[in-house]
Amino acid sequence: MFCVRVRAQQLLHKVFSPSAGLRWTAASRSPCSSSDSQDAAPSMLKHLTSKITAVGPITVAEYMKEVLTNPVTGYYVRGDMLGPDGDFITSPEISQIFGELMGVWIISEWMGAGRPQQLQLVELGPGKGSLAADVLRAFSQLKSVVGGASVSLHLVEVSPALSVIQAQNLTGGQGGPSSDGPVYLRGETAAGLPVSWYRRLEDVPAGFSIFIAHEFFDALPVHKFQRTDRGWREVMVDIDPHGPQQLRFVLAPSPTLASSVLVQAAEPRDHLEVCPEAGVIVQQLARRISENGGAALIADYGHDGTKTDTLRGFKNHQLHHVLSSPGSADLTADVDFSYIRRMAGEGVTCLGPVAQKTFLKNMGIDVRMQVLLRNCSDLSTRKQLISSYDMLTSSSKMGERFQFFSLLHPSRFSKPVVSAGLNLDRTKSPAPLPVAGFTELRFS
Ligand code: SAH
Repeated sequence: MFCVRVRAQQLLHKVFSPSAGLRWTAASRSPCSSSDSQDAAPSMLKHLTSKITAVGPITVAEYMKEVLTNPVTGYYVRGDMLGPDGDFITSPEISQIFGELMGVWIISEWMGAGRPQQLQLVELGPGKGSLAADVLRAFSQLKSVVGGASVSLHLVEVSPALSVIQAQNLTGGQGGPSSDGPVYLRGETAAGLPVSWYRRLEDVPAGFSIFIAHEFFDALPVHKFQRTDRGWREVMVDIDPHGPQQLRFVLAPSPTLASSVLVQAAEPRDHLEVCPEAGVIVQQLARRISENGGAALIADYGHDGTKTDTLRGFKNHQLHHVLSSPGSADLTADVDFSYIRRMAGEGVTCLGPVAQKTFLKNMGIDVRMQVLLRNCSDLSTRKQLISSYDMLTSSSKMGERFQFFSLLHPSRFSKPVVSAGLNLDRTKSPAPLPVAGFTELRFS
């Protein structure tokens, strides 16, 4: 136990040496957004109204999937939604410390797994590629630790526009389209690590992998249900008869396939959101981890099976009505970690959810801040450092709303094997190593 604490402490010290480079971006809201492309909205609305006219009201999940990832008019097909000039900002875009701490977590879990020679780093929904870039910076700071391993980066991304931005950030635009099976883009980082892009997780090769997913699961489509006198009914999206260019929510008159299959018999809530696509992805992650070893770190808006009605839109950093000008705003629903845990099954061990502020403090964000502030005399940079720290950790900002959750191989928690030939007191054999972030680190 002590061992991993010292190790994690040493890792942090190396990553957070004063010489490590800084990337800070303002978290302030831009008064006018370039992503406010009104022309994207009418064609999406037209597409949806034609579909509803042909087949009748559609599920909220189908609506969300069309709006976000339709290959022609979907919200994520554009690449300009992330950052101060877009619709929303994420933790990796606020401060590089966030990704660096995730890098330390990954290396610490790789060490906890016995330092396998091959390490696949897999990110789901990499946005602009900032998180992966910061993770890789931590890797290069810790070259003496991780240098012997053969590391590769695998990105699962549906947005062609975002994959171009990711390639620019991670490979300096060196990569190019690939005709190699499911890999649609391929490149190499400046340090020579291979990077591959896939549309689906199932296309990523098998092997020891650490998966990261930050603000990915909240973008997956949810079904919405409501308890009525006649049992559970699914919420659907229909054309509003009072305005043909408007949409409205309606309740299905009879059970749908989804309401029959996805609502648990003992469900205590009256309103419910279920994301079966998240369930399928988590089952895949769990199977891969149990068969090939590794871990997954999921960080997102979320709750542990208590919230009811969280689907919302964001445009220009403001809440936006979910059904208004579809395709022009982000749609997001909180991740139900009780559902994720259920879907992960018995083959893996789950940890969390823990609040972002707890995870980051356990990972040593306070120590990192002290080092940075001690070495920074510029007043405006100091102010930026403090405001980014506050944004990430304050309970009223991102500190409580965002949660960290992990899937781990069960062997991670077994006691290290003691050789049978040694006459040791078994009660004194070393305890399993604690998992960083989910356990408080001690800094002496
Ligand atoms: N992780 C990044 C970006 C979050 S936005 C960050 O925290 O900054 C959501 C990301 O998931 C985008 O990159 C989006 O294109 C991607 N995405 C959304 N739905 C997806 C899906 N079904 N499959 C793969 N990627 C998806």
